[in-house]
Amino acid sequence: MRYLDEFRDPVLARKLVGDITTRATRTWTVMEVCGGQTHSIIRNGIDQLLEPAVEFIHGPGCPVCVTPLEMVDRALEIAARPGVVFCSFGDMLRVPGSERDLFSVKARGGDVRVVYSPLDAVRIAEASPDKQVVFFGVGFETTAPANAMAVVTARRLGVSNFSMLVSHVLVPPAMTAILDSPANRVQAFLAAGHVCTVMGTRQYGPLAQRYRVPIVVTGFEPLDLLEGVRQVVAQLESGEARLANAYPRAVAPEGNPVAQAVLEDVFEVCDRQWRGIGAIPRSGWRLSERYRDHDAEIRFDVADLHVAESADCHSGEVLQGLIKPSQCPAFGTRCTPRSPLGATMVSSEGACAAYYQFRRLALPLEVRGG
Ligand code: SF4
Repeated sequence: MRYLDEFRDPVLARKLVGDITTRATRTWTVMEVCGGQTHSIIRNGIDQLLEPAVEFIHGPGCPVCVTPLEMVDRALEIAARPGVVFCSFGDMLRVPGSERDLFSVKARGGDVRVVYSPLDAVRIAEASPDKQVVFFGVGFETTAPANAMAVVTARRLGVSNFSMLVSHVLVPPAMTAILDSPANRVQAFLAAGHVCTVMGTRQYGPLAQRYRVPIVVTGFEPLDLLEGVRQVVAQLESGEARLANAYPRAVAPEGNPVAQAVLEDVFEVCDRQWRGIGAIPRSGWRLSERYRDHDAEIRFDVADLHVAESADCHSGEVLQGLIKPSQCPAFGTRCTPRSPLGATMVSSEGACAAYYQFRRLALPLEVRGG
């Protein structure tokens, strides 16, 4: 496939692997922040190719995985109400809440619909003025501009029966929380390229300086990832700690100013719970005062719903890089993609799902169905 094959060239990949493994004088622990990067690393065996020069820690970069349990329960509570059309991207439907998921609400008669764009939900609301139509706005800075535009569009069209349950999270505060943790093992970051496409790279320079960690903005194809790793290892080996951009074909330092202006209008920064991690100050977005009448939490009065995480799921430790998914006692036995205990086993970007999907030969035969 043109434009992608050139970033999957095996000859160049072998050369980069050779450069990295020759350069490394010890094992460096590197966190990829994005779930898409995690899947690419595991799918292409990049972690195995780079052993023992690099140990990857799979960070909290899967938006579905870090959506807090209480927000999932709020979604379930709203979706089960009569007269509500609850719209979501498909990957949220199987994320377990305290007692059920959106699929089970749908099975019991709830009007839960999979949409491919938040604007689809606005259109549904426009066509169904007698219904309350809610979109589950989940994700990092990447998906936020489209969600913001949906709210702006609903306002412009006067679609007052459209609201959004917002659970947006921000990458830099999560990186800061990881670096501040006494258990932190991260020595360098591969920053998520698509987040930087929207937000630019300015926030990462001060972080690299303050914590003395190299941060390299990195893409998603095998050569992108290997080049990002090559650059962090080169910095680590020479004692440097600065921001670098290994994804210049997509990321400009200033990001996308048009998208940023919309985000600033529609959202405001707030404290957020991260599933498995806990509260991180100023790590999320909620609708700004101007658009608060489209806030589903307020419209359906579910903001006070708080619940505790299950002790069975160790996704918090996985998301902080303290254990690998396969070290969770439930991995592949009590927890599988068919019967997940945690969101990291459900989402297409979750680390547990990646390990299950691409490392299933490590599981006992009866689990593989052999
Ligand atoms: S394997 Fe399942 S139970 Fe264990 S951390 Fe992952 S999602 Fe949670």
